Amino acid sequence: MKIIMLGAPGAGKGTQAKQIAGKYSIPHISTGDIFRANIKNGTELGKKAKEYMDQGLLVPDELTCDLVVDRIGQDDCKNGFVLDGFPRTIPQAEALTDALNKLGEKMDYAIDVDVPDENIVKRMSGRRACLDCGATYHVVSIPPKKEGICDACGSKLVLRDDDKPETVQKRLDVYHEQTQPLIDYYKEAGILKSVDGTQPMEDVFAEIVKILG
Ligand code: ADP
Ligand code: ADP
Ligand code: ZN
Repeated sequence: MKIIMLGAPGAGKGTQAKQIAGKYSIPHISTGDIFRANIKNGTELGKKAKEYMDQGLLVPDELTCDLVVDRIGQDDCKNGFVLDGFPRTIPQAEALTDALNKLGEKMDYAIDVDVPDENIVKRMSGRRACLDCGATYHVVSIPPKKEGICDACGSKLVLRDDDKPETVQKRLDVYHEQTQPLIDYYKEAGILKSVDGTQPMEDVFAEIVKILG
């Protein structure tokens, strides 16, 4: 099963993608996590990506597409994968379609997690991230067992630099301009499914499981 998660920053794509990956035993591929891991390890890619991420801008397609195409060609992706945060532009979607076409394959579902902008800023200011294992929490709706500490690995949780309100607004503008057009792209491809992302996490997941079967 090959799945794309669509939705604004903070809509809950990552939260749902992790659960999908667990239930269907497929890898969760988050370009944001890949970039953050590169930043943490001080790689060239990390240095370049950080310049864009800190401003709430998208990392250029040249730095993003090959990385994902390589990743989905690895052995653990043979039975499918869930893409979280990619594609984010029409050229990225086209690169993905082309790469799969060459293998005689195609995506099965694009799931749009729909959350209005008003709710997003609140979600982002409460998001706490573990930069060691990629887990995410929310101070009110999905708190860790121990305040400020990751349940999964015990590391310290942080407010991401790009989750500060000034940057969140910029990311929402970028989303509407560059990423939202993908909803029509996948509608035309006949694989778009929408879920109401304002519901509690478990209810959103139940809707998704109904779609995926
Ligand atoms: P969120 O889950 O809040 O939407 P992500 O972790 O997916 O955030 O992405 C964080 C940042 O990483 C984005 O704002 C962007 O700068 C960069 N990024 C992630 N994925 C992509 C992508 N597919 N194309 C370009 N930039 C990306
Ligand atoms: P995205 O990957 O789309 O940027 P996340 O999955 O990181 O979004 O979720 C953004 C924030 O909202 C996180 O703090 C997360 O814990 C919280 N969150 C996720 N899903 C829900 C939900 N259904 N209800 C309330 N908060 C949620
Ligand atoms: Zn952790």
